[in-house]
Amino acid sequence: MEKKKVFISGGAGFIGSFLCGHYLGKGCDVWCMDNLITGSMNNISAHLDNPGFHFLKEDVVCLDPEKLPGDFGYVFHLASPASPPDYFMYPMETLRVNSQGTEKCLMLALRCKAKFLYTSTSEVYGDPLIPVQNEEYWGNVNPIGVRSVYDEGKRYGEAVVMAYNRKYGLDTHLVRIFNTYGPRMRLKDGRVVPNFIYQALSGRPFTIYGDGMQTRSFCYVEDLLKGLTLLVEKDYHFPVNLGNPGEFTIMELAGLVDKIFGRKSGIKHMPALEDDPKRRKPDISRAKHLLGWQPEIPLEEGLRRTIDYFMAGFMKPGSGEIT
Ligand code: UDP
Repeated sequence: MEKKKVFISGGAGFIGSFLCGHYLGKGCDVWCMDNLITGSMNNISAHLDNPGFHFLKEDVVCLDPEKLPGDFGYVFHLASPASPPDYFMYPMETLRVNSQGTEKCLMLALRCKAKFLYTSTSEVYGDPLIPVQNEEYWGNVNPIGVRSVYDEGKRYGEAVVMAYNRKYGLDTHLVRIFNTYGPRMRLKDGRVVPNFIYQALSGRPFTIYGDGMQTRSFCYVEDLLKGLTLLVEKDYHFPVNLGNPGEFTIMELAGLVDKIFGRKSGIKHMPALEDDPKRRKPDISRAKHLLGWQPEIPLEEGLRRTIDYFMAGFMKPGSGEIT
């Protein structure tokens, strides 16, 4: 790959920081923009000494595309709160980064004639009325519910990306990411995988919202990353689901975490969340056909790697306590 400049909004986030590492590894210059409301300098600390890495602590909503270099080869827009407790806490920021922030990134890509990729989400399907979601499904979203800041923000983001593709012929790419997990998530970001790991590490019972029979499909971050970097090279502009089609109830996930820790944590039942999707499972036929991609890391293996990461980083040495 020739030396290219890559712009990544949300580059200090969980997935964004792996994307930075990927392109640095290919010898590219990486410009990472993040306002750190949910991202973390820890995620990019390994890159800071790399002369090809440029960090801009800035909200992408305030980006002036004219003030950045005009020769980016790739523009990736990942910046956004993604965990439900985060977007409940930052509703305006979530709406803005997916609307105004997306358009700022599109303007930058247009100026540079760059390849553009926007990370949308399975949340555009809302609480789906079909058991397996393919890209043709238009979704079942409550436009004024508590999750709408994220769901509708991402739906608007998809619309503006398609508009730039249709009106200006920009080389855009849309990914709908299903639940992804792995190292560099925040242990207390509120999502189910880190929550359960935190609870198991600290000897607490698992918090289960509702009856725990709702399902999710969990994709390990390394698998997801491969899908993103393959898709951006393709001449294909419609949405592509990326996720692991293995479907688990939240109770089953709790059982798996217990199995790995070799203990019985117990369950603390909590009220169901408003508009919490009851079933989520991606149809990944499009990604398979287009990219020859499918996830390779089974949930148990990915959970073990994630738990190892959290244990290494968060246990106070010798004390058995988590920090
Ligand atoms: N969940 C749960 N206990 C928790 C955290 C989440 O039962 O401590 C449930 C949540 O209600 C949802 C699923 O796990 O049904 C996945 O939640 P998460 O926040 O990870 O992501 P979502 O897919 O809802 O965006």
